[in-house]
Amino acid sequence: MTETQSTQPESTAYDVVVLGAGPVGENVADRTRAAGLTTAVVESELVGGECSYWACMPSKALLRPVIARADALRVPGLSRSVQGPLDADAVLARRNSFTSDWKDDGQVQWLEGTGADLYRGQGRLTGPRTVTVTDADGGRRVLTARHAVAVCTGSRARLPDLPGLDEVRPWTSREATSAQSVPDRLVVVGGGVVATEMACAWQALGSRVTVLVRGGGLLNRMEPFAGEMVAEALTEAGARIRTGTSVKSVTRENGTVLVVTDDGDRIEADEILFATGRAPRTEDIGLETIGLEPGSWLTVDDSLRVTGHDWLYAVGDVNHRALLTHQGKYQARIAGAAIVTRAAGEPVPAEDWGAHAATADHAAVPQVVFTDPEAASVGLSLAEAQRAGHRVRAVDVDLSSVSGAALYADGYKGRARMIVDLEDEILRGLTLVGPGVGELIHSATIAVAAQVPIARLWHAVPSYPTISEIWLRLLEAHRDA
Ligand SMILES: Cc1cc2nc3c(=O)[nH]c(=O)nc-3n(C[C@H](O)[C@H](O)[C@H](O)COP(=O)(O)OP(=O)(O)OC[C@H]3O[C@@H](n4cnc5c(N)ncnc54)[C@H](O)[C@@H]3O)c2cc1C
Repeated sequence: MTETQSTQPESTAYDVVVLGAGPVGENVADRTRAAGLTTAVVESELVGGECSYWACMPSKALLRPVIARADALRVPGLSRSVQGPLDADAVLARRNSFTSDWKDDGQVQWLEGTGADLYRGQGRLTGPRTVTVTDADGGRRVLTARHAVAVCTGSRARLPDLPGLDEVRPWTSREATSAQSVPDRLVVVGGGVVATEMACAWQALGSRVTVLVRGGGLLNRMEPFAGEMVAEALTEAGARIRTGTSVKSVTRENGTVLVVTDDGDRIEADEILFATGRAPRTEDIGLETIGLEPGSWLTVDDSLRVTGHDWLYAVGDVNHRALLTHQGKYQARIAGAAIVTRAAGEPVPAEDWGAHAATADHAAVPQVVFTDPEAASVGLSLAEAQRAGHRVRAVDVDLSSVSGAALYADGYKGRARMIVDLEDEILRGLTLVGPGVGELIHSATIAVAAQVPIARLWHAVPSYPTISEIWLRLLEAHRDA
């Protein structure tokens, strides 16, 4: 064998190559395999991705007991039984079981069951339709794609540019969701969903939490009352929330973290979590070999195809449309259908209601923030609807006016806002804040995504006595406005 031959990596051709086996990559592969296309999936860490091991699953496993206990404390007859603190060890152990102790055997088995071939290693584009995989031992293999490469590499935590931050060993969302003990004092930097959920979880698990928010409040992508109500409850639970505050410096000495804020305050803690946004995992995937910018979010059309490349798809977090598992999996179903249709030589229909256009990304994205109280929204907030040029009315109702809510919890505190399009007489958005509202949001998602006329919504009768009766109160308030 000559020198040149020995360095040539083995090459295998597939119909589709999927880069990244998070929830989104898994679902793209599932769809293309179901249609009979040969599919390779490349994964550098764990099959199942961020969601299964360091995001949705462990965070919600930490929060579920927090919410269940808070709910129980609001029901006389039950509240005395749950006076004690949470059993943190048991909560962490249950969380560990939801992540399968950070082992991916189950998901590998599922993926292999679809008939896709899994390649473990770092995947990089090395030219059009070509992905080179480097495994842990440095071995390389080239995968070529006859029809499509789907980049599903997700996102990672973005840390601020603070000198010496590495030595502080700050928590990112990964450590915040996988820590095996409860820090006495935790500083949380950020005011978005990850910051708010993790502050709620760790405060309830026994940490003394201080939240430092640069802006004016929490959850600023939602209606303002969502962040206000969650902040009020977090404060009642014992957390300190400081708005309009940034971190000027952070150091760690003898295990203790010292945070100095821009207004000169010094805060000591045992851990510091930076929940300060996400960055695309595209810095080292060979984008430069096909004329794209490494480290950038990938811009796609509604079939999830990257602008300017007819064989390249970017699905899930990496396209920055909606950084949510359910939305990424929706995109995966659509990208899968588009790849299959184009592989058959057929054009992809661009109509709104087809299976080939991720139109819900634009105006019907649902999200639940699993704090106590929960905050849930779908579609546009008032500010977003106005910015988009819709002529809208915001209809506000206090959730405690609903008998189902009063039954759910004594002293139920909650609020709903419906955004009505006054020209089309449809719903543009709905936001709910209150205990138990997370399970309600799908009704609104159907109304928003299906553009159900308001007049027709009167015939969707909510069961009595449930919190869903809020729908009647909202419709009445709109009628009487
Ligand atoms: C703390 C937290 C809580 C969250 N909670 C929720 C929630 O409750 N509900 C919800 O809907 N969303 C939630 N999210 C968002 C959700 O986690 C993401 O939207 C989702 O994981 C995106 O899926 P993905 O497949 O696009 O990317 P990821 O899950 O990030 O998966 C990408 C995969 O690609 C792999 N990869 C990357 N680069 C390469 C490469 N070069 N070669 C090979 N493999 C590679 C990675 O190892 C990873 O496995 C949460 C996020 C965080 C941080």
